[in-house]
Amino acid sequence: MFFKKINNLIFVTLLLIVSISYAQQTAKYVFLFIGDGMGDNQIYATELYKASMTGEHIYEPLSFSQFPVHSFMTTYSANSLTTDSSASGSAMATGEKTNNHWVSLDPVHKTKQETIAEKAKRAGYKVGILSSVTIDHATPASFYAHQESRGDYHEIALQLPLSNFDFFAGGGVHDLGVKSDKNSVSTQLGKYGYTYITTEKGIKDLKKGDSKIVAVNPGTYSGKEYYWEIDNRSESIPLSYFTKKGIELLDNDKGFFMMVEGGKIDWALHSNDLASSIMETIAFDEAIKEAVKFYKEHKEETIIIVTADHETGGLSLGSNTSKGLKLNLLKNQKISAQEFERKLKVLKEQERKISFDEVLDSVKVNFGLGGQLKDLELTKAEKKWLYEAYENEFIEMKEVNPDRDYLDHSADKPFTLRVITILSEKAGIAWGTEGHTAMKVPVKVIGAGQEYFRSTIDNTDVAKIIMQLMQLPK
Ligand SMILES: [Zn+2]
Repeated sequence: MFFKKINNLIFVTLLLIVSISYAQQTAKYVFLFIGDGMGDNQIYATELYKASMTGEHIYEPLSFSQFPVHSFMTTYSANSLTTDSSASGSAMATGEKTNNHWVSLDPVHKTKQETIAEKAKRAGYKVGILSSVTIDHATPASFYAHQESRGDYHEIALQLPLSNFDFFAGGGVHDLGVKSDKNSVSTQLGKYGYTYITTEKGIKDLKKGDSKIVAVNPGTYSGKEYYWEIDNRSESIPLSYFTKKGIELLDNDKGFFMMVEGGKIDWALHSNDLASSIMETIAFDEAIKEAVKFYKEHKEETIIIVTADHETGGLSLGSNTSKGLKLNLLKNQKISAQEFERKLKVLKEQERKISFDEVLDSVKVNFGLGGQLKDLELTKAEKKWLYEAYENEFIEMKEVNPDRDYLDHSADKPFTLRVITILSEKAGIAWGTEGHTAMKVPVKVIGAGQEYFRSTIDNTDVAKIIMQLMQLPK
């Protein structure tokens, strides 16, 4: 009896110690990496593709696939089972659901939902928000803006300097405006003491302690999002560099919160362009590796969470039209769908008429299709399907804008997207949609508090757990 009592006492004490240590588990340095549209198959396809490049292994895990905690996350929004980036970004940022296209607002009362980044800043942490798409785009906006429509880029960008955050980096804003206009983003940034840097030297010269910075990659499209990784533009500063710089600037004794978005993963998937999406995922992994280096120096106090806001494309690593997966065929794709479309536009604008054979030649050079390469021959039916689009675009001169919004899909698949579809089929992959799906997304975690992510969570739990780990007010 006595021993039983003692045993009970020991058990209760142990339980107390365990629960106290759980309750006190904190993280000073919090990294949240959001691969936009990056489902589990997108990650695995990247790993298989990477391995096929060297031929040494079947599978080469990305850095975050080697994290100790792996689980899944539900992503539905307040008004749809299939979320968009702003609703899911808002859920991860605030711990509350909102409607699709809304940015960190209560879906009923339209009141502001405070974000973990705003709470962290108020509590004395430093804050950094990075993205490879524009910094006023849905995912980054979810952490500092409150707006009924994600498309209100101007209103969103005007809220950026009000956040008081220390470091914004990667892509720029849609419309910076001019200093002479008192309603411009440029004027607003100046008024709140922000420096907008767009030169390589200016970015490289940034140092520890610099704050209120918006550092924009000098190599971007005119829309101010990154060029495509697959196009390998030398003027571009990689997201990994900005992540490293961000760590240098934000590092301080109180700690920091940093959100990094791999935004173009999703944009490529909206075109069902897996080769481009894979290259974006590899670049995203390079940014994560910078956080892992920091984690290794501050293991007890750092957590890295890698997840997605939703899956895009309904990617299947198998299809009815092929005999198994042949991802290595994608390495014949040398160019993004967008850049190929730009090439076609240049061809079209020449004075002489461009023949179908000339266009097919360009397909061969840029995608390996239709030449002598094994598994990449074009069938009669495929050529006929391509010819239909050629007729549309080169004879009837139907306009296809290569820089159109990535969500704008015309009823007729343009020539470029037909080429991408044929390559997908030959590589043995299939797509359920050119939009988002309601699939659960992967969550991969390492560091202080990783145990909170062990079971399947909801996207709102990301904010709730971070609030607990950083001891932020509810
Ligand atoms: Zn999307």
